[in-house]
Parts: sequence; C-alpha cells; structure tokens
Amino acid sequence: MLSHRAFLLCILLAVPIPAAAADAAGQWWADVSALAADGMEGRLTGSPGYDRAAQYVIGRLKEEGLKPAGINGYLQPVALEQQLVDQDASRASLSAADGASTSLKLGEQMLIAAGGGPRPAKIDAPLVFIGYGLNLPKHGHDDFAGLDLKGKIVVVVSGGPAELPGALKSHARFERNAALNKQGALGIIVLTTPKQVEIPWERQRTLVRGPGMYLADAKLRDSSKPFFTASFDPAQSEMLFKNSGHGFPEIAALADASKPVPRFALAYRLKADIVATRSKLSSPNIAAKLEGSDPKLKSEYVAISAHLDHLGIGAAVKGDRIYNGAIDNASGVATVLDIAHRLKSGPAPRRSILFLFFTAEEKGLLGSSYYARRPTVEKSNIVANLNFDMALPLWPLKTLYAPGQEESSLGDDARAVAASQGLVVIPDPLPDRNVFIRSDQYNFVREGIPALVFKFGFAKGTREFDIERDWRSNRYHAPSDDLAQPLLKEEAAKLDDFVAALARRVADADRRPAWLAHSIFRKD
Ligand SMILES: [Zn+2]
Repeated sequence: MLSHRAFLLCILLAVPIPAAAADAAGQWWADVSALAADGMEGRLTGSPGYDRAAQYVIGRLKEEGLKPAGINGYLQPVALEQQLVDQDASRASLSAADGASTSLKLGEQMLIAAGGGPRPAKIDAPLVFIGYGLNLPKHGHDDFAGLDLKGKIVVVVSGGPAELPGALKSHARFERNAALNKQGALGIIVLTTPKQVEIPWERQRTLVRGPGMYLADAKLRDSSKPFFTASFDPAQSEMLFKNSGHGFPEIAALADASKPVPRFALAYRLKADIVATRSKLSSPNIAAKLEGSDPKLKSEYVAISAHLDHLGIGAAVKGDRIYNGAIDNASGVATVLDIAHRLKSGPAPRRSILFLFFTAEEKGLLGSSYYARRPTVEKSNIVANLNFDMALPLWPLKTLYAPGQEESSLGDDARAVAASQGLVVIPDPLPDRNVFIRSDQYNFVREGIPALVFKFGFAKGTREFDIERDWRSNRYHAPSDDLAQPLLKEEAAKLDDFVAALARRVADADRRPAWLAHSIFRKD
C-alpha cells in the first residue's frame, strides 16, 4: 500500500521539480490540507475537532520517529476554565458623590471582557484615571507612581509616550493587569481613542458575547483574585469624565499625539452586578523530541513551536461558518513537522530538539503560557524558541523577517544562515504591530528564553505589501482563511529549509543563545 506521502507525490509531481523539494513541499501541503479540512471544524480549543487535529499531529510525529515528550505520551493536558459573561443580565452604573446614578448599557456602552480570569460578581469602587496605565519605572515612565490604587477601578487610555519603543509599550500593556493586581486595584476599564480603534465598536460588541478562557490554575493567571476588565465605547467615553475637570476629547488628542497624559480621580464610583457562567475543560499541548548527539549538550533543548488551535465554528461569512485557519496556523504546524523531518533525516544535532504544538493561542496564548512555566523538560535547559504563526507563504521567499531578531544572538544566527541560502533578513516592515509580543514565543521571552518568530518579507509599496494587507483585512480570522487560498508550498518549504538549518546551527553551537546587552527583554 502506498504511504500517505508517496500517494501525494503521485498527484503533485505533474511538473518535474527536484525530488527532495517536491517531497517536502508535498508533505507540507498534505499536512496543511489535513489540518485545515472542514472535518477539523476549525480546531477550537476543547472541541472534538481540535482533538482530531491533535491525533493527526501525533500520528505524523510517530511516522517521523520522534519520541514523546509530554506528560501522557505526546500530550501535556492544560486545565482551562471557560467563562461566558451575560451582558444582558448584568447591571452597571456610575454613581456620583451626591447619590445621582447613571445606568450603563452593558453590551453597548461598556463591554465586560470574558477572558483573562474570572470576573467578580459585585463591584462598588471609585474610578481613577491613570493615563496610559504603563508601569515602566526602570525606563523612566510610571503611570502608577505616587497613586494608591488599592480598592480602585483604574481607567486608562490607549497609546503611550513617543519616547518609549513600541515593543516596550506593548510589553507593559501585556503585564499591566498583573501589575495592577499587585497594587490592589480591583479592575480596569480600557478606553481607545477614536483614531486608534482597530476593530470597529460594532464588531467588538458581537465578539464580547463569545466565551473567554483562562488557565484553571489561579497561580498561573495574571490575577489570583477575580479582576474586573472592560472596554468603553469611544463615542461615549466622555461620560466618565463629567465633573472631573477634564474631557475625553482633550485626553484623546494628547494620546493621539503620544504626549504626556494627566492622571486624576474621576467623579464616580462604578457599581456593578456581573452574571457569568464558568465551566472547566482540558485541552492538550503536544510535545515530541529528537535526542541530541552530544553527551553533555543533549540535556539542553531548542524548542520549535506552532499553535494548533484556531477559532472553530462561528458566525457565517458568505455562507461559510467554518474558520479553517489554513494559514493561521495549520501552515505553522505543517512547517514544524517538515522541520522535524529534515532534522531527523540528517545527523543528530548536538543539543536535543523539542517540537511543541500549543493549544488555546487564540484564547490568549494560554497553551504556551502553561508550557513555558510548566515545561516537560527542565526550564533552564530550554535555550531558544523558534516559533511559527502565519508566516504567510503567499509570494516567493526572497526576504524574511524574524521579530526578536534585534534582541538576542539568534538574530546573528538567522542572518548568517540566510546569507548561506541566498536570503536576506530585513527589519520588520511594520514594527508598530509588535508581532514579537503577540504570539506564543512571548511566553518564552517572559521566562527569559531568547526567541524568534518567522515571517515572509515584504516592502512597502510592492505587490507583496498589497497581498499582505489584503490578506489581513479579508481573510485573517475569517472563514476564507481556508484551503482555496493560493498558498505557495514550494516557497513554504524554502522557509522550512532555512529554519531547519538555523535550528541545527543553534543546536550545534558551543554557546547557548543570549539576549543582547541593550535588549529590553534581558533579565538581570
Ligand atoms: Zn489567530
């Protein structure tokens, strides 16, 4: 009987291409096709479709001869909690010192978030506006300084001062709820200036009605206690500032100009009764390993990863309800499998290689958050993380960028390998998106482990730039991120070739990767 791979080669070899390249590209496409098929139902965390995808990946790891590196064979179960906030049954109001009360329309004016952690059932707390809410004392900016936040709900505005690098601001936003919790704050309301809105308010109102998730182990959450998290309609945010001596248009203008923003008490207490239902679920990460050849270095690991989950079945767009996630991130999973095949085929690298597939990335990087803090190998022995999340193989691979490339010695490794393969590592063409802290590699960074994530390069004003922008606005997190897209499998295989060589270089080097002296992610 023909193996799956041989069968695919028969179909795909209509045009003569070098056998090895065709093999890799064919298998990559076979894996993408299997994982993004309608039968996988969009691989929602905790769903039967996700579990079927996990079984497929395990089957492929066995086929490649990789050893299990989970807790239960290849699996590392991650205990999660799902929360649904009933915006209609919940109540909230702004209460002034003179007793006057203004009720808020939940689900319209204010949206109570369902992710991040459990919401408290009751809130009765004063509101304080703390500017951008960025807590970066080491970098000369601290919106918490001199304030007693205990028992308060803080209100913050989007953006940050111009003098701070974008990555640092994103980093501070990511860590904000944990920092507020430490100060005893009870919650946060995030305001966005009309100019800085990414997802229109109308769509946010629909999205907030879906379930959120967080890790079941309270010790692994930003806040061990219930914490209130909400956003406010930009068109109505002015109501929070009444009688405060300030107005939202003034604050928004300062934030849009990245200027200093004042901090002051607001004239209201927020009172709320929140109705939420919670249920437990478990969804696995997958871990496999290739043992290193060096008696000493083989106890160290280069972790190569991609998230396996996507959005499942949701609102129909043009009659399609299945969010297949072909690029996000079946493509990344297929790439990790291809790299595993390449590394297994050659001589064993000196260090061991870990192949990781995460759950619940789309729910807030939860699977990787769990893995990075509860790894199945000694944490201090993980020397690097090379991650894939939507590399976008939609045009020929000539240049690439690897967010994180300016932060650690992995950047030099990437440039050296690229040069040997006729590729050029370019700076991130859209650095303001802060990709480096928006996918699973960030959880390794938080634990002090140097990391990179890989993307096909493009330049402003080119055809590639238009393809990239078009993909983001029309297919990203939409049912049309499916197998009907013109994915370029030979180009994807070239990226796999590059990262396999990079992984080998890092695994074979005498010294483990290190953060550069200037890096904001370096921990002293
Ligand atoms: Zn996604």
